[in-house]
Amino acid sequence: MSDLLIKNASFVITVDSKATILKSQDIFIDKNKIVQIQNHQPTSTASEVIDATDLLVMPGLINTHTHLPMTLLRGVAEDVDLQGFLEKVWAEEARIMDAEGCRVGARLGALEALLSGTTCAVDMYLHPRETHQGAVDVGLRHINGPVFFEFPGPDHKQWDERISEAKVWPAVVKEIGGPKVPLYLMPHSTYTVSPEKLAEISQIAQKIQARIHTHVSENLAENEDVLNRFQATPTQILADSGNLKNSLLGHSVHLTEGDLALIKTQNAALAHCPGSNLKLASGAFDWQASRKAQINVTLGTDGCSSSNDLDMFNVMRLAANLAKLMQSDPKAISVDEIIYAATQGGAKAIGMGEELGSIEVGKYADLIMLDLNAPHLTPMRDPVALVVYAAGRSDVKHVIVDGELVIKDRKSTKVKIEEVMKTAKEKVNQT
Ligand SMILES: [Zn+2]
Repeated sequence: MSDLLIKNASFVITVDSKATILKSQDIFIDKNKIVQIQNHQPTSTASEVIDATDLLVMPGLINTHTHLPMTLLRGVAEDVDLQGFLEKVWAEEARIMDAEGCRVGARLGALEALLSGTTCAVDMYLHPRETHQGAVDVGLRHINGPVFFEFPGPDHKQWDERISEAKVWPAVVKEIGGPKVPLYLMPHSTYTVSPEKLAEISQIAQKIQARIHTHVSENLAENEDVLNRFQATPTQILADSGNLKNSLLGHSVHLTEGDLALIKTQNAALAHCPGSNLKLASGAFDWQASRKAQINVTLGTDGCSSSNDLDMFNVMRLAANLAKLMQSDPKAISVDEIIYAATQGGAKAIGMGEELGSIEVGKYADLIMLDLNAPHLTPMRDPVALVVYAAGRSDVKHVIVDGELVIKDRKSTKVKIEEVMKTAKEKVNQT
């Protein structure tokens, strides 16, 4: 008998290679995998059964660029550009984002993400061990890794300490446990880490078989600064220092044709963060240019200090509308392409495309259930359009990560929501 049965799901958005939508389905989960999907049978049963009548089932959303502990910095820097933002944020980080602040912030961020239908997030933040521990405790498939700045940074770590942290990172991930994730190293950007130091990171990444997650060409001032200092674009520097292959590039708003060609040949993926890019007026990402270059575009929220929340439904809608506006063409992007970017595309970007990102037999059971019984989701014509243009995070009723029901009836089964919020407030108010 299976461990878990999602019984009689009204609609299933599978995000398989044919973008199949199914109706009235039973989905069987055994341990952490999807083992069977079939037309609903009244006799179907399992150890635990979720009645999915009037629910829409889809793959969990994959947020490919965020800074979860920065939930504690929500609202700290409003109405400033990237450079002004960084100044304000770095001061507040020095005050509260110690190791304990990172663990507390990661718990709050992971909880917000899960309640919003995100089952997997690629994070980047200080104190990676505590951040990872905090997010895994709440039940998220959480990907992060040691972060690198050339200067000491708010965590006061010297370069050699960061290198040591990177060397033992595989052991840390193993020790903490949690759902399977790829290893990553996370140089902050080409404006905070020099080409020589980036080359050093690349060597360790190869040794421990880690991928790279970084910020690239977020705004024009960054590009100008890097070009002036190194006579190359951020993407070129990453390629030359051995960091571009299979990497994940946060923002990537201002890419040249040469950058796009390099990204394609090195099989890197983009993490488009429209909420953050619009709010900081960093620029408008050109989805069409990336599509033409056959680059995998995925979606991220960025941290809560810039885009204020971790709502991937909002990100999907912003990304779709922005792509249309950019081309002055409502046909510029389809809802299927948006859903793919938020699920299967994200899985592919982290090297888990065969294991994650769609509802298919053999894949890890990371999926979410939306309650369709709401005025704003009535009537149902196209389930995918409903998700992209009408649904919101408050519609997420149940969330399964790695076969475990971590959100049930909008409540965490892993932690007490009130307690996570209380601890976060106390940390922010500390003197
Ligand atoms: Zn970022």
